[in-house]
Amino acid sequence: MTQPATPSRPAGRRKFELDPRFESYKGVWVFLEHNEGVVHPVSFELLGEGRKLADQLGVELAGVVLAGDGTAARAFADEAFFHGADLCFTAIHPVLAHYRNQPHARTLTALVNAHQPEILLLGATTMGRDLAGSVATTLQTGLTADCTGLAIDPENRSLAATRPTFGGSLLCTIVTLNYRPQMATVRPRVLSLPTRDTSRRGRVVAVEPDLAEDEIVTKLLEFIPDARRDEASLAFADIIVAGGRGLKRADNFRLLWDLADALGAEVGATRPVVQAGWVTADRQIGQSGKTVRPKLYIAAGISGAVQHRVGMEGADVIIAINPDPDAPIFDFATYGIVANAMQILPAMTAAIHQHMAALKKAV
Ligand SMILES: Cc1cc2nc3c(=O)[nH]c(=O)nc-3n(C[C@H](O)[C@H](O)[C@H](O)COP(=O)(O)OP(=O)(O)OC[C@H]3O[C@@H](n4cnc5c(N)ncnc54)[C@H](O)[C@@H]3O)c2cc1C
Repeated sequence: MTQPATPSRPAGRRKFELDPRFESYKGVWVFLEHNEGVVHPVSFELLGEGRKLADQLGVELAGVVLAGDGTAARAFADEAFFHGADLCFTAIHPVLAHYRNQPHARTLTALVNAHQPEILLLGATTMGRDLAGSVATTLQTGLTADCTGLAIDPENRSLAATRPTFGGSLLCTIVTLNYRPQMATVRPRVLSLPTRDTSRRGRVVAVEPDLAEDEIVTKLLEFIPDARRDEASLAFADIIVAGGRGLKRADNFRLLWDLADALGAEVGATRPVVQAGWVTADRQIGQSGKTVRPKLYIAAGISGAVQHRVGMEGADVIIAINPDPDAPIFDFATYGIVANAMQILPAMTAAIHQHMAALKKAV
Protein backbone atom coordinates (compact mmCIF):
# COMPACT_ATOMS: atom_id res chain seq x y z
CA MET A 1 0.00 0.00 0.00
CA THR A 2 1.35 3.42 -0.94
CA GLN A 3 1.52 6.22 1.62
CA PRO A 4 -0.50 9.40 0.92
CA ALA A 5 1.59 12.22 -0.60
CA THR A 6 3.46 14.15 2.09
CA PRO A 7 2.69 17.88 2.41
CA SER A 8 5.25 20.27 0.86
CA ARG A 9 5.73 22.09 4.22
CA PRO A 10 9.01 21.04 5.96
CA ALA A 11 8.65 18.37 8.64
CA GLY A 12 7.81 19.78 12.07
CA ARG A 13 6.20 22.98 10.71
CA ARG A 14 2.43 23.14 11.03
CA LYS A 15 0.39 25.40 8.80
CA PHE A 16 -0.30 28.52 10.79
CA GLU A 17 -3.40 30.65 10.73
CA LEU A 18 -3.74 33.46 13.23
CA ASP A 19 -6.95 33.46 15.25
CA PRO A 20 -9.16 36.13 13.58
CA ARG A 21 -9.56 37.80 17.00
CA PHE A 22 -5.91 38.81 16.81
CA GLU A 23 -5.72 40.03 13.22
CA SER A 24 -6.23 43.65 14.29
CA TYR A 25 -3.05 43.56 16.46
CA LYS A 26 -0.42 45.74 14.76
CA GLY A 27 2.80 47.49 15.73
CA VAL A 28 5.84 46.92 17.91
CA TRP A 29 5.93 48.38 21.43
CA VAL A 30 8.82 48.94 23.83
CA PHE A 31 8.15 49.61 27.52
CA LEU A 32 10.41 52.45 28.71
CA GLU A 33 11.71 51.57 32.15
CA HIS A 34 12.80 54.51 34.28
CA ASN A 35 13.84 55.08 37.85
CA GLU A 36 14.61 58.32 39.68
CA GLY A 37 14.27 60.31 36.44
CA VAL A 38 16.63 58.14 34.37
CA VAL A 39 15.58 55.79 31.56
CA HIS A 40 17.25 52.39 31.80
CA PRO A 41 19.59 51.92 28.80
CA VAL A 42 18.02 48.53 28.04
CA SER A 43 14.94 50.43 26.85
CA PHE A 44 17.05 52.20 24.20
CA GLU A 45 18.64 48.90 23.18
CA LEU A 46 15.12 47.47 22.74
CA LEU A 47 14.04 50.51 20.70
CA GLY A 48 17.01 49.90 18.37
CA GLU A 49 15.98 46.28 17.88
CA GLY A 50 12.27 47.16 17.83
CA ARG A 51 12.96 49.57 14.95
CA LYS A 52 14.39 46.71 12.86
CA LEU A 53 11.44 44.43 13.66
CA ALA A 54 8.90 47.18 12.89
CA ASP A 55 10.59 47.98 9.56
CA GLN A 56 10.56 44.31 8.61
CA LEU A 57 6.86 44.07 9.42
CA GLY A 58 6.06 47.44 7.83
CA VAL A 59 4.45 48.76 11.04
CA GLU A 60 5.11 51.54 13.55
CA LEU A 61 7.39 51.38 16.57
CA ALA A 62 5.93 52.82 19.77
CA GLY A 63 7.44 53.61 23.17
CA VAL A 64 5.28 53.22 26.28
CA VAL A 65 5.87 55.59 29.19
CA LEU A 66 4.08 55.28 32.53
CA ALA A 67 5.04 58.22 34.75
CA GLY A 68 4.00 60.29 37.75
CA ASP A 69 4.16 63.66 36.01
CA GLY A 70 3.86 65.14 32.54
CA THR A 71 7.29 66.78 32.37
CA ALA A 72 9.10 63.53 32.99
CA ALA A 73 6.81 61.65 30.59
CA ARG A 74 7.45 64.19 27.81
CA ALA A 75 11.23 63.97 28.31
CA PHE A 76 11.11 60.16 28.20
CA ALA A 77 8.89 60.24 25.08
CA ASP A 78 11.44 62.51 23.35
CA GLU A 79 14.17 60.01 24.22
CA ALA A 80 12.03 57.26 22.69
CA PHE A 81 11.81 59.27 19.45
CA PHE A 82 15.56 60.00 19.48
CA HIS A 83 16.15 56.23 19.69
CA GLY A 84 13.82 55.22 16.86
CA ALA A 85 10.15 55.32 17.99
CA ASP A 86 7.48 56.74 15.68
CA LEU A 87 5.04 57.39 18.50
CA CYS A 88 4.89 57.15 22.26
CA PHE A 89 1.96 56.27 24.53
CA THR A 90 2.11 58.23 27.77
CA ALA A 91 0.03 57.37 30.84
CA ILE A 92 0.48 59.99 33.57
CA HIS A 93 -0.84 59.61 37.12
CA PRO A 94 0.69 60.30 40.57
CA VAL A 95 0.16 56.61 41.43
CA LEU A 96 2.68 55.75 38.68
CA ALA A 97 5.47 57.96 40.11
CA HIS A 98 7.40 54.90 41.40
CA TYR A 99 7.24 51.37 40.13
CA ARG A 100 4.67 49.14 41.76
CA ASN A 101 3.44 45.98 40.10
CA GLN A 102 -0.29 46.49 40.53
CA PRO A 103 -0.84 49.95 38.98
CA HIS A 104 1.83 49.46 36.30
CA ALA A 105 0.49 46.05 35.25
CA ARG A 106 -3.07 47.35 35.25
CA THR A 107 -2.18 50.40 33.11
CA LEU A 108 -0.03 48.48 30.63
CA THR A 109 -2.64 45.73 30.27
CA ALA A 110 -5.38 48.31 29.61
CA LEU A 111 -3.17 50.04 27.02
CA VAL A 112 -2.53 46.76 25.22
CA ASN A 113 -6.23 45.88 25.18
CA ALA A 114 -7.13 49.32 23.83
CA HIS A 115 -4.38 49.74 21.18
CA GLN A 116 -3.49 46.12 20.36
CA PRO A 117 0.24 45.85 19.53
CA GLU A 118 1.46 42.61 17.95
CA ILE A 119 4.79 42.68 19.83
CA LEU A 120 5.58 44.02 23.32
CA LEU A 121 9.22 44.14 24.51
CA LEU A 122 10.57 44.83 28.01
CA GLY A 123 14.03 44.71 29.59
CA ALA A 124 14.89 41.56 31.53
CA THR A 125 15.62 43.70 34.58
CA THR A 126 14.12 43.24 38.03
CA MET A 127 11.30 45.63 37.09
CA GLY A 128 10.82 44.31 33.54
CA ARG A 129 10.67 40.69 34.66
CA ASP A 130 8.15 41.50 37.37
CA LEU A 131 5.92 43.58 35.10
CA ALA A 132 6.12 41.33 32.01
CA GLY A 133 5.06 38.24 33.97
CA SER A 134 1.97 39.96 35.40
CA VAL A 135 0.94 41.53 32.09
CA ALA A 136 1.38 38.31 30.10
CA THR A 137 -0.59 36.32 32.68
CA THR A 138 -3.44 38.83 32.73
CA LEU A 139 -3.55 39.01 28.94
CA GLN A 140 -3.20 35.20 28.70
CA THR A 141 -0.50 35.47 26.07
CA GLY A 142 2.99 34.02 25.59
CA LEU A 143 6.10 35.58 27.14
CA THR A 144 9.63 34.52 26.21
CA ALA A 145 11.91 35.63 29.03
CA ASP A 146 15.63 36.49 29.00
CA CYS A 147 16.03 36.43 25.23
CA THR A 148 19.39 36.79 23.52
CA GLY A 149 18.04 37.48 20.03
CA LEU A 150 14.85 38.64 18.29
CA ALA A 151 13.84 38.21 14.66
CA ILE A 152 10.75 37.99 12.47
CA ASP A 153 9.85 34.60 11.02
CA PRO A 154 9.33 35.49 7.34
CA GLU A 155 6.91 32.62 6.86
CA ASN A 156 4.24 33.82 9.26
CA ARG A 157 5.34 37.31 10.48
CA SER A 158 5.63 36.05 14.05
CA LEU A 159 8.30 37.06 16.55
CA ALA A 160 11.08 34.45 16.76
CA ALA A 161 12.59 34.94 20.22
CA THR A 162 15.84 33.10 20.96
CA ARG A 163 17.01 32.21 24.47
CA PRO A 164 19.43 29.75 26.12
CA THR A 165 17.91 26.52 27.36
CA PHE A 166 18.98 23.23 29.01
CA GLY A 167 21.40 25.03 31.34
CA GLY A 168 22.70 27.20 28.50
CA SER A 169 23.99 24.32 26.42
CA LEU A 170 21.43 24.96 23.66
CA LEU A 171 19.72 27.98 22.16
CA CYS A 172 16.03 27.60 21.34
CA THR A 173 13.78 29.86 19.32
CA ILE A 174 10.26 30.31 20.65
CA VAL A 175 7.26 31.63 18.72
CA THR A 176 3.85 32.64 20.08
CA LEU A 177 1.69 31.69 17.12
CA ASN A 178 -1.84 31.81 18.44
CA TYR A 179 -1.89 34.66 20.94
CA ARG A 180 -1.25 38.38 20.84
CA PRO A 181 0.70 40.40 21.77
CA GLN A 182 3.89 38.35 21.49
CA MET A 183 5.89 39.34 24.56
CA ALA A 184 9.62 39.06 25.23
CA THR A 185 12.14 40.34 27.76
CA VAL A 186 15.78 40.88 26.78
CA ARG A 187 18.70 41.30 29.14
CA PRO A 188 20.63 44.59 29.24
CA ARG A 189 23.69 44.74 26.94
CA VAL A 190 22.65 41.79 24.79
CA LEU A 191 21.51 44.16 22.02
CA SER A 192 23.56 47.08 20.77
CA LEU A 193 22.61 50.66 21.58
CA PRO A 194 21.21 52.58 18.57
CA THR A 195 22.66 55.98 17.66
CA ARG A 196 20.75 58.78 19.42
CA ASP A 197 19.35 61.15 16.79
CA THR A 198 18.00 64.33 18.39
CA SER A 199 16.47 65.48 15.11
CA ARG A 200 13.90 62.65 15.21
CA ARG A 201 10.33 63.56 16.24
CA GLY A 202 7.20 61.51 16.89
CA ARG A 203 3.57 61.58 18.03
CA VAL A 204 2.60 61.52 21.66
CA VAL A 205 -0.59 59.57 22.39
CA ALA A 206 -1.73 60.54 25.89
CA VAL A 207 -3.97 58.06 27.70
CA GLU A 208 -5.86 58.52 30.99
CA PRO A 209 -5.05 55.68 33.38
CA ASP A 210 -7.95 54.49 35.49
CA LEU A 211 -6.20 54.43 38.88
CA ALA A 212 -6.84 55.44 42.48
CA GLU A 213 -4.26 55.27 45.27
CA ASP A 214 -6.69 53.69 47.74
CA GLU A 215 -7.14 50.70 45.40
CA ILE A 216 -3.42 49.89 45.41
CA VAL A 217 -2.40 47.44 48.11
CA THR A 218 1.35 48.21 48.17
CA LYS A 219 2.42 51.58 49.56
CA LEU A 220 5.72 53.33 48.96
CA LEU A 221 6.88 54.71 52.33
CA GLU A 222 10.39 55.76 51.38
CA PHE A 223 12.87 55.21 48.54
CA ILE A 224 16.23 53.99 49.84
CA PRO A 225 18.81 53.64 47.03
CA ASP A 226 20.99 50.55 47.18
CA ALA A 227 24.27 51.85 48.58
CA ARG A 228 26.22 49.06 46.86
CA ARG A 229 24.55 49.62 43.50
CA ASP A 230 27.51 51.29 41.83
CA GLU A 231 30.15 49.01 43.26
CA ALA A 232 30.40 46.81 40.21
CA SER A 233 29.07 48.61 37.15
CA LEU A 234 30.06 45.72 34.93
CA ALA A 235 27.14 45.85 32.55
CA PHE A 236 28.20 49.25 31.22
CA ALA A 237 32.01 49.04 31.53
CA ASP A 238 34.07 49.67 28.38
CA ILE A 239 36.92 47.44 29.57
CA ILE A 240 36.58 44.30 31.69
CA VAL A 241 39.39 42.17 33.03
CA ALA A 242 37.92 38.81 34.05
CA GLY A 243 39.41 35.86 35.86
CA GLY A 244 38.58 32.19 36.20
CA ARG A 245 39.64 29.09 38.08
CA GLY A 246 42.94 29.09 36.16
CA LEU A 247 44.12 31.87 38.50
CA LYS A 248 44.41 29.08 41.11
CA ARG A 249 44.07 31.14 44.32
CA ALA A 250 42.10 34.14 45.63
CA ASP A 251 45.42 36.01 46.16
CA ASN A 252 46.17 35.87 42.44
CA PHE A 253 43.07 37.97 41.75
CA ARG A 254 45.23 40.89 42.94
CA LEU A 255 46.97 40.65 39.54
CA LEU A 256 43.62 41.28 37.84
CA TRP A 257 42.78 44.24 40.09
CA ASP A 258 46.20 45.75 39.31
CA LEU A 259 45.64 45.45 35.58
CA ALA A 260 42.08 46.80 35.95
CA ASP A 261 43.39 49.83 37.87
CA ALA A 262 45.98 50.52 35.16
CA LEU A 263 43.35 50.29 32.41
CA GLY A 264 40.46 51.99 34.26
CA ALA A 265 38.58 48.69 33.89
CA GLU A 266 36.07 46.65 35.90
CA VAL A 267 36.84 43.18 37.25
CA GLY A 268 34.65 40.22 36.29
CA ALA A 269 34.73 36.52 37.10
CA THR A 270 33.39 33.08 36.26
CA ARG A 271 30.91 31.24 38.44
CA PRO A 272 33.36 28.80 40.13
CA VAL A 273 35.44 31.77 41.27
CA VAL A 274 32.37 33.47 42.74
CA GLN A 275 31.32 30.22 44.39
CA ALA A 276 34.80 29.89 45.90
CA GLY A 277 34.32 33.35 47.44
CA TRP A 278 37.28 34.98 45.60
CA VAL A 279 35.01 37.83 44.42
CA THR A 280 31.44 38.95 45.11
CA ALA A 281 28.50 37.55 43.14
CA ASP A 282 27.78 40.92 41.47
CA ARG A 283 30.94 40.35 39.39
CA GLN A 284 29.83 37.05 37.88
CA ILE A 285 29.52 37.10 34.11
CA GLY A 286 27.46 34.58 32.20
CA GLN A 287 24.17 32.84 32.01
CA SER A 288 23.41 33.08 35.72
CA GLY A 289 25.37 36.32 36.14
CA LYS A 290 25.57 39.51 34.09
CA THR A 291 25.65 40.03 30.33
CA VAL A 292 28.36 42.48 29.28
CA ARG A 293 29.28 44.17 26.04
CA PRO A 294 32.57 46.01 26.61
CA LYS A 295 34.97 47.28 23.95
CA LEU A 296 37.70 45.07 25.43
CA TYR A 297 37.37 41.85 27.48
CA ILE A 298 40.52 40.27 28.87
CA ALA A 299 39.84 36.68 30.03
CA ALA A 300 42.55 35.18 32.24
CA GLY A 301 42.35 31.55 33.35
CA ILE A 302 38.89 31.07 31.82
CA SER A 303 38.09 27.95 29.78
CA GLY A 304 35.24 29.54 27.78
CA ALA A 305 32.33 27.30 28.83
CA VAL A 306 29.09 28.15 27.01
CA GLN A 307 27.48 29.43 30.23
CA HIS A 308 30.27 32.02 30.52
CA ARG A 309 30.43 32.71 26.80
CA VAL A 310 26.75 33.78 26.52
CA GLY A 311 27.47 36.60 28.95
CA MET A 312 30.52 38.09 27.20
CA GLU A 313 30.70 37.13 23.54
CA GLY A 314 29.20 40.50 22.55
CA ALA A 315 32.52 42.20 23.49
CA ASP A 316 34.16 44.00 20.55
CA VAL A 317 37.61 42.51 21.28
CA ILE A 318 38.35 39.45 23.46
CA ILE A 319 41.89 38.66 24.60
CA ALA A 320 42.24 35.20 26.20
CA ILE A 321 45.17 34.07 28.34
CA ASN A 322 45.30 30.31 28.90
CA PRO A 323 48.16 27.76 28.73
CA ASP A 324 45.90 25.15 27.12
CA PRO A 325 45.89 25.78 23.34
CA ASP A 326 42.74 23.65 23.05
CA ALA A 327 40.73 25.69 25.57
CA PRO A 328 37.31 26.51 24.01
CA ILE A 329 37.82 30.23 24.64
CA PHE A 330 40.34 30.32 21.79
CA ASP A 331 37.52 29.36 19.39
CA PHE A 332 35.91 32.78 19.79
CA ALA A 333 38.64 35.06 21.23
CA THR A 334 39.96 37.82 18.96
CA TYR A 335 43.51 37.34 20.26
CA GLY A 336 44.86 34.35 22.18
CA ILE A 337 47.89 34.25 24.45
CA VAL A 338 48.87 30.63 25.19
CA ALA A 339 50.66 31.22 28.48
CA ASN A 340 50.49 31.31 32.26
CA ALA A 341 48.26 34.24 33.34
CA MET A 342 50.34 34.77 36.49
CA GLN A 343 53.24 35.81 34.24
CA ILE A 344 51.27 37.66 31.55
CA LEU A 345 49.03 39.80 33.81
CA PRO A 346 51.86 41.62 35.66
CA ALA A 347 53.72 42.07 32.36
CA MET A 348 50.63 43.70 30.82
CA THR A 349 50.17 45.97 33.85
CA ALA A 350 53.83 47.04 33.72
CA ALA A 351 53.60 47.70 29.97
CA ILE A 352 50.51 49.89 30.44
CA HIS A 353 52.15 51.89 33.25
CA GLN A 354 55.21 52.38 31.04
CA HIS A 355 53.08 53.49 28.11
CA MET A 356 51.09 55.95 30.26
CA ALA A 357 54.29 57.40 31.71
CA ALA A 358 55.69 57.88 28.20
CA LEU A 359 52.46 59.61 27.12
CA LYS A 360 52.59 61.96 30.13
CA LYS A 361 56.19 62.87 29.31
CA ALA A 362 55.27 63.63 25.71
CA VAL A 363 52.51 66.10 26.75
C1 LIG B 1 23.04 26.26 34.96
C2 LIG B 1 24.47 26.74 34.93
C3 LIG B 1 24.70 28.09 34.94
C4 LIG B 1 26.01 28.57 34.90
N1 LIG B 1 26.23 29.90 34.89
C5 LIG B 1 27.49 30.35 34.77
C6 LIG B 1 27.75 31.75 34.70
O1 LIG B 1 26.85 32.61 34.77
N2 LIG B 1 29.02 32.16 34.54
C7 LIG B 1 30.08 31.26 34.46
O2 LIG B 1 31.22 31.71 34.31
N3 LIG B 1 29.84 29.95 34.57
C8 LIG B 1 28.60 29.46 34.73
N4 LIG B 1 28.40 28.13 34.85
C9 LIG B 1 29.58 27.26 34.98
C10 LIG B 1 30.22 26.89 33.66
O3 LIG B 1 29.61 25.74 33.13
C11 LIG B 1 31.72 26.60 33.82
O4 LIG B 1 31.89 25.58 34.78
C12 LIG B 1 32.54 27.82 34.25
O5 LIG B 1 32.29 28.92 33.40
C13 LIG B 1 34.02 27.47 34.20
O6 LIG B 1 34.72 28.46 34.85
P1 LIG B 1 36.27 28.66 34.63
O7 LIG B 1 36.54 28.94 33.19
O8 LIG B 1 36.75 29.66 35.64
O9 LIG B 1 36.90 27.27 35.09
P2 LIG B 1 37.45 26.05 34.27
O10 LIG B 1 36.46 25.56 33.27
O11 LIG B 1 37.96 25.08 35.28
O12 LIG B 1 38.68 26.63 33.44
C14 LIG B 1 39.88 27.06 33.99
C15 LIG B 1 40.81 27.37 32.82
O13 LIG B 1 42.02 27.92 33.35
C16 LIG B 1 43.09 27.47 32.55
N5 LIG B 1 44.33 27.61 33.30
C17 LIG B 1 44.94 26.71 34.11
N6 LIG B 1 46.10 27.23 34.59
C18 LIG B 1 46.19 28.49 34.10
C19 LIG B 1 47.15 29.51 34.22
N7 LIG B 1 48.23 29.36 34.98
N8 LIG B 1 46.93 30.66 33.55
C20 LIG B 1 45.84 30.84 32.79
N9 LIG B 1 44.89 29.89 32.62
C21 LIG B 1 45.08 28.72 33.28
C22 LIG B 1 42.72 26.04 32.21
O14 LIG B 1 43.43 25.62 31.06
C23 LIG B 1 41.21 26.14 32.00
O15 LIG B 1 40.92 26.36 30.63
C24 LIG B 1 27.10 27.65 34.88
C25 LIG B 1 26.83 26.29 34.86
C26 LIG B 1 25.54 25.83 34.89
C27 LIG B 1 25.29 24.35 34.84
